[in-house]
Amino acid sequence: MERAEILGVGTELIYGETLDTNTAEIARALKPYALKVERTLRIVDEVGPLAEAVREAWGRARLLVLSGGLGPTPDDVTREAVALALGEPLELDEEVLSEIRALFQARGRPMPEANRKQALKIPSARWLKNPRGTAPGWWVRKEGKDLILLPGPPSEWRPMWAEVLPALGLPRRPYAERVFKTWGIGESEIVERLGELFVREEGLEVGTY
Ligand code: ATP
Repeated sequence: MERAEILGVGTELIYGETLDTNTAEIARALKPYALKVERTLRIVDEVGPLAEAVREAWGRARLLVLSGGLGPTPDDVTREAVALALGEPLELDEEVLSEIRALFQARGRPMPEANRKQALKIPSARWLKNPRGTAPGWWVRKEGKDLILLPGPPSEWRPMWAEVLPALGLPRRPYAERVFKTWGIGESEIVERLGELFVREEGLEVGTY
């Protein structure tokens, strides 16, 4: 089965100063699809290690999703890192720049120059509009694969993800899940009682937690 890889971008995620719930939520949304999620990662906001992680994950994945690091400050380097990893230049989109400027004007403030970089994209990306914030995302389709760049705040990326996910045309799989809660009985006894019902094979999984 082809793979999906999910990267949470932000040094604060590594230390739990912000709890990384994005990668798990994105992974859960992929359960009805025929893509295997073998790992999710949290990466620092540094161009070098981030570009390296993107290059590696892109090499393995049919779908790569990143969240975070699309803000205007110097520690928001996700765009640069992805451009580097995919070997493409960052280009300024004047139309998107004037949209961002208009957002600030609507709030009665001039746009800080730092926000210009939110209007940068690589040639193979198209924009994912962000109705809740200033940072638009990217949808890159290249070499028969997809890379999705989402902002960090859940209230911003959720509607963007809900719109782009069905548009990706990913293969689906028959999917159902049942949870049984037990008490007063140990894991090993449960496994013993389940006997050959405790199967782990392609397309079917039983787990005890
Ligand atoms: P912004 O433009 O708002 O700065 P951004 O894309 O740069 O967006 P970050 O600065 O990385 O995003 O994160 C902004 C906020 O989003 C964080 O303070 C946190 O509340 C939330 N967030 C980011 N990443 C995650 C994550 N992996 N799990 C849960 N929440 C997250």
